Amino acid sequence: MGPKRFHRVVGCVQKYKWGKPSSSEPLVKRLHLASSTTTSTTESPSSAPDEPFAELWMGTHPNGPSSIVGGSGQTLLQLIESDPSFHLGSVSSTTDIPYLLKVLSIHKVLSIQSHPDTALAQKLHASNPDVYKTPCHKPEMAVALTPFTAMLGFRPLTELRTNLLSYPEIMDVVGPDAWEGVLGAYDRTVGVGDFDTGVKEAVKSLFTSYMEMFPTLGPPALSSVLTRLNDKVDKTDLDNLVLDFAEQFPGDCGVLSPVFLNVISCSPGESVYVGSNTPHAYVSGEIIECMARSDNVIRCGLTPKFKDVGVLCESLKYDTYRPEVGKGEEVGEGGGKGSTRRYRPPVEDFEVRITTFKGGEGGRVDSGVDSGAILMVIEGGGTLRGTGGEEIEVGFGDGVFVSANTELEVVGGEEGIKFVRGMRNVG
Ligand SMILES: [Zn+2]
Repeated sequence: MGPKRFHRVVGCVQKYKWGKPSSSEPLVKRLHLASSTTTSTTESPSSAPDEPFAELWMGTHPNGPSSIVGGSGQTLLQLIESDPSFHLGSVSSTTDIPYLLKVLSIHKVLSIQSHPDTALAQKLHASNPDVYKTPCHKPEMAVALTPFTAMLGFRPLTELRTNLLSYPEIMDVVGPDAWEGVLGAYDRTVGVGDFDTGVKEAVKSLFTSYMEMFPTLGPPALSSVLTRLNDKVDKTDLDNLVLDFAEQFPGDCGVLSPVFLNVISCSPGESVYVGSNTPHAYVSGEIIECMARSDNVIRCGLTPKFKDVGVLCESLKYDTYRPEVGKGEEVGEGGGKGSTRRYRPPVEDFEVRITTFKGGEGGRVDSGVDSGAILMVIEGGGTLRGTGGEEIEVGFGDGVFVSANTELEVVGGEEGIKFVRGMRNVG
């Protein structure tokens, strides 16, 4: 029957401060507790009511490596290293999973950040390896499981102009030249669109002035904005978000970030892709996140951590646009009985598939993809069958590493089954 192709794995929980509190029963906590009961680890299910459950990681990242259940302490990485091409597939050039699959339960906004492209990551890693730990890019994708809000990229010029005019205090921070630059770019391009390089220069100058001047001039300007907003009768969504951020991070330069950045709402099943050098911050909701296995974050605001303002402002893309919200593509697996939505980013490092079968229904999901996959059950449970008749029962919270080129068949249990897979983007 050959070597085993299914290995149960347990993920690693990260209790960052922005995570949903234990008392709200966040998905990260429920998944984690369900998997630790079935695998009889010793962790106590009780936690303080305000203990945050931010992220559940599945993969081989050294800051939260998954381990094999019943493998006498073997890690997922050690399993893969024992036979990389069997586990990861023929095209794998490494002995390591190139992606990291996560679940996030977001209560408070994450820091505004961008991730360098490969060339910049190599440069940053060479000059400052303590901060930029790998020479790799870090594209990432979020798929909403509940209503999800994120900030991503600079707003279209017309919105940027409207927002500046309704937040005139920003001129005191950036100065009249940077301010006029953006308003002038708007007047010049009305009816032409945002495709003028002068627009990018103007937005870059505005944002750079803002980030550079804020530490000295910003906080008083911020208090006049907040006083005005608090007194305002008809608050806009933007006003409310600014007030919300001001409460979460008093005095932080990122409080006014939604004036500049798009605010996007995704319904469950919708996704956003975050390419390199694009400012972004996840605001609220529960999501699946998949990314290239890298650590490189250039922070920009809504954080007490180090902000590398010079590197950030020089490296950002200043396109002004409304980002696309993805819906995935139905790939019709399971002979039409089930559903698999496939979310493919424009990079090779990873893709995400979400498969659903109703109770008692099942079918063939894959005739074998040339990539190792990490599978996590996020609703219900059922039976997985693989090449050669290998079979395991899985329930809510269970994680399984599926070796490359495994034929996969699934039968949903009584309540049906919904599971996520992360894998290399197999084209
Ligand atoms: Zn990010």
